[in-house]
Amino acid sequence: MLQTRLPEAYTVEYRDVPVPEIGPEEVLIKVKRFGICGSDIQVYHGQHKYMTFPVVQGHEAAGTLEKIGDKVSGLKVGQAVTVQPQIFCGVCQPCKSGHPNVCQNLRVYGVHTDGLGQEYFAVPAEKIIPLPEGCSFDDGALIEPITVGVGAVRRCGDVKDRNICILGAGPIGNFTAQVAQAKGAQVMVTDINQKKLDLAASMGIKNTINTENRDLKTCIADVFGPAGADIIIDCAGAPASLTSAIKSARPASKIVIVANFKVPVEVEIPLIQRQQIDVLGVMMYIKEDFFTAVDLVSQGKVTTEGIISEYFDISKLKEAYEYIDANRLDVNKVMMTFGE
Ligand SMILES: [Zn+2]
Ligand SMILES: [Zn+2]
Repeated sequence: MLQTRLPEAYTVEYRDVPVPEIGPEEVLIKVKRFGICGSDIQVYHGQHKYMTFPVVQGHEAAGTLEKIGDKVSGLKVGQAVTVQPQIFCGVCQPCKSGHPNVCQNLRVYGVHTDGLGQEYFAVPAEKIIPLPEGCSFDDGALIEPITVGVGAVRRCGDVKDRNICILGAGPIGNFTAQVAQAKGAQVMVTDINQKKLDLAASMGIKNTINTENRDLKTCIADVFGPAGADIIIDCAGAPASLTSAIKSARPASKIVIVANFKVPVEVEIPLIQRQQIDVLGVMMYIKEDFFTAVDLVSQGKVTTEGIISEYFDISKLKEAYEYIDANRLDVNKVMMTFGE
């Protein structure tokens, strides 16, 4: 079978390797889609802090079950599925206290260990999230980034009737905004890329604001009035986004950091302290968040319409990255397909 592997930054190897054997508690997935994520791009550029080469990428994926281990129940061959791409140790303090997403030995498929950028993938059955009847493979592969939005919104606490400002209208900002809106929040999304804002608007996000050359605090006041934002969620991940979030945060509000920052950011601690702002980190999601994401998509409360910028066959992974690098500002989700 074909396996794509990155031996180092900016390099893709196309390898012919045996189809994996499965253990009694595992299943074999025939991979149909894998979406390229911002963190994958960091890996490709050799800028991801917590990974080592070589690596087979792919943590946003969908496929069908090709084989099922002897001890697995409740799943059937041919069924469409996605995967929870986190591996937990189960014995550290975070794992034991109900926070496996911050497991001290966390490994993520496609980042710390090989992922689904290959024709077949063996995985423990407990990582399988079944997709409902009628769910496309595209949507199946987008469940993971939608689940990031679910995890981010869950971290915010009860968001019903809250004013939430989301920085960044890329796929994660977009999905986080849709999830927050589905949960009853008043949402605004900011970006400096008008195309991404237009897409967000077309997907039903109410307030889409271009902040190029504009002060974030003023933009927030324009939408939410003097009450400001109860919560600012940073899905942009640029030093400028976080510093403007801290400058624009209302007293006794929250800032939730979802984006992967590539570099440390200097922030004005006195603004955080004097205004008593809760700055919260969020790391991915827990398994329940996947079920929430699947429900939101199947109920039509989160849409994926228009988020896929381009498709490439798995044999063209390198070309997919070249396309992403050439269209860096405008690209949303690039989806890898497997021979169809
Ligand atoms: Zn991702
Ligand atoms: Zn652990």
